[in-house]
Formats: sequence, structure tokens, C-alpha cells
Amino acid sequence: MIQIENLHKSYKVGHDSLHVLKGINLHVKEGEFISIMGSSGSGKSTFLNIIGLLDTHDEGIYKLNNEVIKNLNETKAALLRNHFIGFIFQSFNLIPYKTAIENVALPLYYKGGYNKKEREKIALEYLDKVGLKPWATHLPNELSGGQKQRVAIARALVTQPKIILADEPTGALDSVTTQTTMELLKNINKEGMTVVIITHEEDVAEQTNRIIRLKDGVIMDDETVNHNVKI
Ligand code: ATP
Ligand code: MG
Repeated sequence: MIQIENLHKSYKVGHDSLHVLKGINLHVKEGEFISIMGSSGSGKSTFLNIIGLLDTHDEGIYKLNNEVIKNLNETKAALLRNHFIGFIFQSFNLIPYKTAIENVALPLYYKGGYNKKEREKIALEYLDKVGLKPWATHLPNELSGGQKQRVAIARALVTQPKIILADEPTGALDSVTTQTTMELLKNINKEGMTVVIITHEEDVAEQTNRIIRLKDGVIMDDETVNHNVKI
């Protein structure tokens, strides 16, 4: 699903260059549930944005679904994103003047091929899936943080992507809503979806199946989580 070999990324900062990713190697198989950890500034979001085709790498090989990702123009990148990737962000990134159902339906509009009625029907199915059907016509500011994140999860799923990428999805949530969100992501993964999340919380990472730790621009640890261990 994702094959990354010796990936490098630098940012230009004034006349200087900041070398953030310094030779990342990572293979992700279909159906995995992975967390990425690492201190602030270690390059987690940069890495996730490259995986999600929101940013580009400088060197190395990135293959998404066996397609070599290199020098994509924005049209092609958007097309691949619309078909393969669903994003979830810490601050939800819902459109404030659109209702829950309109927010969820929007990616179908960008993907194309559905009329308005079809988009709304599918969006409502996904709102139902995250338990928010009764809130379909609410605006984001009429929803709690946890509900907003569930709308964002429905929006990420609505195009039936191959992979969900979440940048600190529970970073703005309390422990109860964090757990609700994690249960939802676990269920989505059990249904076969590949999920990659960034988190600062060990409790969250331990609920995934594999923990990747970034340090000084490389993966310093890649650990499979054994959920059968009972203490
Ligand atoms: P956090 O845990 O705080 O979210 P992170 O691990 O996600 O951190 P990144 O956002 O990937 O870190 O940033 C890695 C480094 O790259 C940081 O030093 C940051 O300042 C720098 N950086 C990120 N984006 C840019 C950009 N667009 N231009 C220049 N530098 C950037
Ligand atoms: Mg980040």
C-alpha cells in the first residue's frame, strides 16, 4: 500500500535549508493500524503530509498503491487524494458555515460523479455510521469537540479511501472523547481500512498495532504492539 525508501525532505528557511526527514524507510500493508510518535518538530506532520500528497519529498522513493509518486502536478495529486486518502486533523477543519451533512458531502463533490441528492444520501449514511445522524443539520459551532471530530471522520470516510491519515486526531479532546474516537478508528480498521495516526499520547499509540518513533529525521523504533499481553 505504502512503500517508502530513503525518503528525504528539507525546507528552505531564508537562505538556509532545514533537513527534516533524513532517510525514512517504511512499508505499510493494507489493513494496518499504525501510530507515529516523536517529539514536537521531529517531522511527523511533514511525513504524514508527504504520504497524503499534501507535500512533496526531495529524495528517495515513495510508492502509493504501487504508483511511483514523483513530480505530480496538483491536478493529479488531488485526483489521487480524492481516491485514496482520507484526512483527519487535530482541529477538525470543518467548514464553519456548512452543516454536518454538507461538510461530509463535500469530498464527494470534489471527487465527482454524484448528484446533490446522491451526495446527501451517502453523507447521511456516514453520519449514521459515526452515530451523528440526528445532528446532520447542525453547524460545527453547535457540536461538541468529540462530535466535530466524528463529523470529520465521516467526511474522511465518505469517498471510501484506501487509507485514513490522522494528524493528532485526539489532540484537542478529553480522555472520554479520545476513547470514543479511538474506538471508532479501531472499528474502521477492523473493517479493513488502513489507518495511520500521529499522536503524542502513549495510551493512544498502544491501541494501534504498530508504533513508529521518529527522532532526528529517521525512524528510531518500529514496534509491533501485542494486544494479548495481560498484566
Ligand atoms: P508537532 O508535534 O509540534 O506537530 P511535528 O513532528 O509534526 O511537530 P513538523 O510540523 O513536521 O513537526 O515540522 C518539522 C520541522 O519542520 C519543524 O522544525 C518545523 O518548524 C519545520 N517546518 C514545518 N513545515 C515547514 C514549512 N512549511 N516551512 C519551513 N519549515 C517548516
Ligand atoms: Mg505536527
